[in-house]
Amino acid sequence: MGSERARETVRRLQGDIMSGRWPINSRIPNEAELAVELGVGRSTVREAVRSLAHLGMLEPAPGRGTFVRSLNPVRGVLSDFVAGHSWADVLAVRRGLEVQAAELAARRVDAEALARLGAAQQADVEGSTHPDGVERGRTPGQFHALIVEAAGNRLLSELYAVLMATLREGVRRGRLASGESAADRRAEHAALLAAIAAGNPAAAAAIAARHADHDFVLAQE
Ligand SMILES: [Zn+2]
Repeated sequence: MGSERARETVRRLQGDIMSGRWPINSRIPNEAELAVELGVGRSTVREAVRSLAHLGMLEPAPGRGTFVRSLNPVRGVLSDFVAGHSWADVLAVRRGLEVQAAELAARRVDAEALARLGAAQQADVEGSTHPDGVERGRTPGQFHALIVEAAGNRLLSELYAVLMATLREGVRRGRLASGESAADRRAEHAALLAAIAAGNPAAAAAIAARHADHDFVLAQE
């Protein structure tokens, strides 16, 4: 249908995101809440969220909600461009960005960024103890996104976010898989955090490279 109401809903949500109402990587209110707030039906909200996901501004994580991934729609163009390449090429470039980000973060990280990284790591560890097995408190990719943020390079952050959204889409479509156990992930994240906290760029880069070699892998046919 693509009604005027749907377009208006997209404009309002886009305005909210661009104004920074919800920070990057935060979860937006759910479909029912937004429907009440915007005075439209849930299907209109769903359609608008889908449009903004296509622009790379939002990303639905099944079972966990919808997350803000970009404050502007530029990523949509970049996402389409990235999607035209092989998964192996995307994985290789993403590995390069992880290494670069870890190295820069170890040089520049401050107490505040370290506290955020520590909290993300802690939330991941605590999620593992929840009896229903759901990883509560863990925003997908948050630990890595915070390292990229600590690197203090906006271009790197934008490119990284696009590659990660592409890779997560690959996981949802069964083309990529997680190649590590939750225990391995937590141990490697802890080692990476320690190297960054110690201000050791070489160690941080080496750990990031090793981690990126197996945290996402091509799915077996
Ligand atoms: Zn990781």
